[in-house]
Amino acid sequence: MTIKAVLFDLGNTLNRFDSDFDEKIFQRILNLVGIARSLKNIKKAFKNAIEDAEDLELLSYYGKIDSNEYWHQFNSLVIKHLKIAENEDLAKVIHSKWFDFMECTPYPEAKDVLSELKQRGLKIGVISTAYEEEIRFVLEKAGLEKTTFDTIVGVDTAQCMKPHPDIFKCALRKLNVRPEDAMFVGDEIEADYKGAKSVGMQALLIDRTEKQKEDDLKTIKNLKEILSNID
Ligand SMILES: [Mg+2]
Repeated sequence: MTIKAVLFDLGNTLNRFDSDFDEKIFQRILNLVGIARSLKNIKKAFKNAIEDAEDLELLSYYGKIDSNEYWHQFNSLVIKHLKIAENEDLAKVIHSKWFDFMECTPYPEAKDVLSELKQRGLKIGVISTAYEEEIRFVLEKAGLEKTTFDTIVGVDTAQCMKPHPDIFKCALRKLNVRPEDAMFVGDEIEADYKGAKSVGMQALLIDRTEKQKEDDLKTIKNLKEILSNID
């Protein structure tokens, strides 16, 4: 097998990403403008906002409308559920400050592994469930040099989300690599591992805590293990 490209998921694959990460950012920005809400309330408001977004079909526009427009609308729903007085500006302020408050922590081995892959002449890509400009921002902030990546594919680039086959095909097309010559590395079985497999790519599931019990999944505990899987 000759692997010519390695593609990565971003959250919990290249970068650490806590499950209440978004809610904590929201809380910090509210604090900045003098509004105090508990994390518990914010989590509940997010849950309700996601339900509303589904009912209002906003979720189906994720990746299909401009990211500012999407996040203004979503933030407004969270604000409504937090019972903060109607304030369109606040939704915009939260979005405009978002990346100032975002912590981007790559896993310690990520940089070395990316540069080793690059040195070996492999193409490198990212496929993530975020807007492309957000992915670029996160990679830059995490110090994962943007020039390392030959392609970055977000929900707006492909107009769909993992595990939809088109998002993987979109990245492969951009890299001009056949699926069987590409390896995808991600932490989610359905979205990443099975999604990549469904288009004929090879796949590795990153399982840092070794909690995965499903048989016949090819797993790695650390990004370094990619290197021995592509020879
Ligand atoms: Mg992930």
